Amino acid sequence: MTSPELQRIVDAIRARQRFVISSHSRPDGDSIGSQLAAAYALRALGKQVTIVNADLAPPPLLQFPGVADIQIAERVEEEPGPDAAAIIMECGDLARTGVMGLERFFVINIDHHPGNTGYGALNWFDASAAACAELVYDLVKALPVPLSREIATHIYLAILTDTGSFHYSSISTRTFAICGEALEAGVDPVLVARNVYDSNNMGRLKLFGAVLSAMQIDQSGRIAIVYLDHEMARQAGGTYDDTEGLINLPLTVKEIQGVVFFKQAEGDQYRVSMRSKGDIDIGAVAKEFGGGGHKNAAGCTVTGPIDALQKTFIEKIERAIELQNGKIVEMQK
Ligand code: 5GP
Ligand code: MN
Repeated sequence: MTSPELQRIVDAIRARQRFVISSHSRPDGDSIGSQLAAAYALRALGKQVTIVNADLAPPPLLQFPGVADIQIAERVEEEPGPDAAAIIMECGDLARTGVMGLERFFVINIDHHPGNTGYGALNWFDASAAACAELVYDLVKALPVPLSREIATHIYLAILTDTGSFHYSSISTRTFAICGEALEAGVDPVLVARNVYDSNNMGRLKLFGAVLSAMQIDQSGRIAIVYLDHEMARQAGGTYDDTEGLINLPLTVKEIQGVVFFKQAEGDQYRVSMRSKGDIDIGAVAKEFGGGGHKNAAGCTVTGPIDALQKTFIEKIERAIELQNGKIVEMQK
């Protein structure tokens, strides 16, 4: 059934002709997939669509349909007007886009991140969705637009990547129902997985090797700490773009419950990515440092001496693990 929020968005789309679709900087599979699925759906209705992002898609995603048409810009060139709207996917706040000028538009905010600030003229936010693309699927159905192979491919790509290849606790029966329908629409899941996961360059593999060799484990044996700076990347012959997905590897070790990845931005400023298993709420940890994300995948940006930062994050993650352990005990009572 169409929710009132979705219905208002459908009405707003039907009443307008021009759309700018944006998503967060350093886009991932869900941002690219959600944007392009929506773009194909709107174009099927005869609408004019421009996609603008602050950064390029990760290299393995460049081969997906329509990705080459995404504009990379710091500022949106399109002029706002009564016939135009900006659709923002996957962003808890508008600044996450890294694209300026979007605020001048009639903003439609579609997201699944807890803590979304409701910055749009219309806001549709559902933290229970495993990927923003689950919402885009509902939008496609409500417009309505037939689920073409291109639309379905992008929805499937988004779900595959945003669930960590069906690992995260956000997955629901709805997730699989949508994936089932995507396959019926002609998506080849083997090809999508090969394109996403098996199209790396050698520099990436070497970089993974260097980063994993230097990996540390906390005293409890449950938290992996990985680190990368510009010098390590240069020596390995890889780039920062090549680290996409690296953070998930330590989690494949049975005992590891959480991973924190420090990536040097410049000087002593670091991009921090975190992952966790099950009910361990790593999103709450990211939030304490001004970042955000989900229970099992989150991030933030921090500044300080790396040793002190590592110590602080390990403490916070250990606490998050203890909290979850407490919950398990309570449930067994
Ligand atoms: P990643 O570790 O892949 O960069 O991000 C994991 C998840 O956390 C994504 O859903 C992403 O949107 C969110 N995230 C990462 N960094 C930040 C941040 O600095 N602020 C906010 N609000 N969310 C973030
Ligand atoms: Mn997402």
